[in-house]
Parts: sequence; structure tokens; C-alpha cells
Amino acid sequence: MTQGMINVAYIGATILFILALGGLSKQETAQRGNYFGIVGMAIALIVTFIGSVTDNYALLLAALAGGAIIGFVLAKKVAMTQMPELVAILHSGVGLAAVLVGYANFLEHDPNLIGVEKSIHDVETYIGILIGAMTFSGSIIAFLKLSGKIGGRPLLLPGRHYLNLILLLAAIWLGFSFVDQSAQGLGLTPLVIMTIIALIFGVHMVMAIGGADMPVVVSMLNSYSGWAAAATGFMLANDLLIVTGALVGSSGAILSYIMCKAMNRKFINVIAGGFGTPKKSSSGAQAGPAGNAEDIKSVDAEEAANMLTSAKEVMIIPGYGMAVAQAQHTVYQITKSLREKGVNVRFGIHPVAGRMPGHMNVLLAEAKVPYDIVFEMEEINEDFPKVDVSIVIGANDIVNPAAQEVPDSPIAGMPVLEPWNGKTTIVLKRGMSTGYAGVDNPLFYKENTRMLFGDANDSLESVYKHINA
Ligand code: NDP
Repeated sequence: MTQGMINVAYIGATILFILALGGLSKQETAQRGNYFGIVGMAIALIVTFIGSVTDNYALLLAALAGGAIIGFVLAKKVAMTQMPELVAILHSGVGLAAVLVGYANFLEHDPNLIGVEKSIHDVETYIGILIGAMTFSGSIIAFLKLSGKIGGRPLLLPGRHYLNLILLLAAIWLGFSFVDQSAQGLGLTPLVIMTIIALIFGVHMVMAIGGADMPVVVSMLNSYSGWAAAATGFMLANDLLIVTGALVGSSGAILSYIMCKAMNRKFINVIAGGFGTPKKSSSGAQAGPAGNAEDIKSVDAEEAANMLTSAKEVMIIPGYGMAVAQAQHTVYQITKSLREKGVNVRFGIHPVAGRMPGHMNVLLAEAKVPYDIVFEMEEINEDFPKVDVSIVIGANDIVNPAAQEVPDSPIAGMPVLEPWNGKTTIVLKRGMSTGYAGVDNPLFYKENTRMLFGDANDSLESVYKHINA
């Protein structure tokens, strides 16, 4: 394959990746976006295979087959609720790849590189390994936190900002030393020390993040993995890797910005950590209740069904518990039945509902809920006073009035959906436990709130039967 053909294929793949990102920005076009991405990646793989990357086809085939099998098995096996952890662990893979490619590149000296050109290449190698190692260890901690293997409570070491600053200064100094030594054919020692520092920094950075900030961290690690890939692209002088890495890096950065805005947080404060410090979380820490037990009013499925059928305006607010219960199909059955009875049913989606960006939209799309009745938080929050019944399905943090009512709450200032401004709110959950941020929820004790306890899907199936009885 000539270099010209490779370039044309790379440009084609780049355009397809851009179209894929454009498609993924809207639910209606997301599927098409995915297809563009698949074709773009197929082109990239074919060109890598038949291009001039390596002569060792046995190794290349083994790597491709290994990757394909792992990807296939994971995609088949992973439950929707495990997607965020899967994404985190895949990011760690990108980081590790950047580190390994960086070391391989450094150890395999290119004798043609001399002078300034060599220094530039060394800087690329150093930055690639630095970002890669941070992404690798940070993503592993994110994986452990998201899968509940370690608690969501932020680790707030005394003088942690100084620790970060010292690590940063050490990494910069080691960088100079590396470039200096590398010119004399040395440099492995500063490279190894920097790698250890970057690994520690990645662990410390994500350990310091409180539960409520995890969405920003997931998208931030997504961005880092892109920049790690772009740095690897510079190392290998591979244009497609540079462009693809930059696309992932910048779209992840934009997503982090959107998430920060959704949480009313400053990016730098997220990195500094500590927001959403849980007193008690599903992961086991302590909290006090936000009301008195006697204020909790529970209903059964029949009462809930009666409330829904006699309403004119119903708002459905899905959260992480809907994903756990896999209740999206039953939710849509109920939606159809209510709409047939003339009830106006809409969905209100919080930007950080669930455990990954767009989590609820994916589930609702899977259940074939029409897009035109699904609204973002800022589109419908003002409509709650006109809503007769809001039904909160396994959501907690995203409907927590403490964000507005309790100034010293760990989630104070985070925008939330406001079902309490409507006539009645029915909350479906199994018990009184807190959500991911570990903050107790006063909504459950409000005068116009009714609790329907049990697994969300079991409760909804029962409600559905009563609606159609
Ligand atoms: P929450 O985690 O706040 O609450 C989920 C609730 O669902 C729990 O209180 C739980 O209560 C209930 N639940 C769990 N399983 C079931 C079930 N089978 N049936 C019924 N209820 C169930 O979820 P939200 O969606 O409200 O908020 C998302 C949180 O996750 C936010 O804090 C966000 O910052 C964070 N996050 C979001 C990410 C994203 O990208 N979207 C990524 C990482 C974190 P009970 O046990 O009593 O049933």
C-alpha cells in the first residue's frame, strides 16, 4: 500500500469519526453515528494491517484476534448497569497502551533521530507515558469506585494540594533530566521515576473525588485517554492516531465541561476533590435521616395506579435504580397505557442520572420510548407546578431538595429535578438508603410524597396490572 493510499484512507477514517461524534450528540442519530464509527475503525484496522506498520503479521494477527475476542465477550456479557465500570477499565487499557508504546519507543532507539528532532521526540515520549500512566491508575481507581469495590468517600489527605504540586514539579524536573540524559543514550531512570509519580498522581486524583463528582471524573478520564492516544500518535508519527486521540480528548473535555455545568461545579474544584463527601452511602458510610420516620407515607401498587390514572399530567423521573431493576420496558408499558387513557406522560432526565452520561436516554431508547416525550432537566423543571403525579423510579441524588434547602449539604448548589413542586410525588425504591453521593433525602419525608417500596420493576409490573385491571 502506497503512502498516498494510506493518507487517503486515514482522511476517510477521520471524517467518519467526526461524523460518528456528530451522530452521537443526538438520540435520533446515535445509531447512525455508531455505524460511522464502526466503519471508520474498520478502515483504520485494515490500513494498519496491510499498511507498513509491521512485518510481524503473526504478532499483529494474534493481537487483533485477542482484542476482538475480549471485546466481543465483554459486549455480550456486560450488564447495562456495569457499563460505567467497563468504560473506566477500557480507559485504563488506553493508558497502559500509551505507557507500553512509550517505553518500547524509548528502548528501541531510532539512530536517524538526532539533535532537536530527537529532543522533540523525547518530549512526546515523556508526555505520552506521563498522561498514559495517570490515565491507567486513575481509571483503575474509578473502576473500583464505580463497581463499589472501594467506597465513594473521598480520601482527603492533609496538604493534598501541596502533594499534587510537589508531584507536578518533580515530573517537570524529571522531564528536563530525561531529555538531557536521553541525548547521551541514557534516561531510563528519570522515565521510571516519573512513571511511578504519574501512577501515584492518578490514584491520588481519583481517590480525592467525592461520589457526586464521579460523572465529571469519568468524562475527564475519557478525555485523558484521548490525549494519551494523541501523544502516542506523535511518538509513532501516526496521523490517524493523533487526530483520533485529539477527537476523543477534546470531546471528553467538552463532556467534562457540560457535566461541571450540570453539577454547578468549577472544573478546578472537581480536580481539587472533596465535593459530595458522603456521611452515609450505599457503600457503607454514616448519615443522619433528613426527617422523622412517622412522616414517611407509603402506598401500595393499587393506590399508585389510581393516582396515575386519575392524573392529567404525569412526569416520570428515572434514576440509577431503574437501570438496576431493568424496569425501562415496564415503564414504557405503563406510559403507553396511561397515554391511551388520555394522560399526558413525559420523562424528565437529569444530566447525571444513573452511572454514565446519557445512561437513562440509552435505557429509554432501548425500551423504544418516543424521543419527543423525553426532556432534559432545564427544559421541564419549571413545569412541575402543573404536574399532577411525578413518579421517581430508583432516583435519589438527582431529586434531592437538600441541594437547594440545606446550605452545608455536600451537594449544595447542584441543580436537581424538583418534583416536590408538583401535586404528588411517588418514589419507587427498595428502602430508605441514600444514593451514590451518600446524602440523605428530605423528599421522602415531604407532605406530598408517597413511597412505593420494593424492587422498581416488581412494583411497576404490579402498578401496570392495576392500571389495566
Ligand atoms: P442514586 O445513586 O442517587 O440513587 C439510586 C437509588 O436507586 C438508590 O437510592 C436506591 O435506593 C435505588 N435503587 C437501587 N436499586 C433499586 C431497585 N432494584 N429498585 C428500586 N430502587 C432501587 O441515583 P441517581 O440516578 O438519582 O443519581 C446518580 C448519582 O450517581 C449522582 O450522585 C451522580 O453524581 C452519580 N454518578 C453519575 C454518573 C453519570 O455519569 N451519570 C457517573 C458516576 C456517578 P434503595 O437501595 O433504597 O432501593
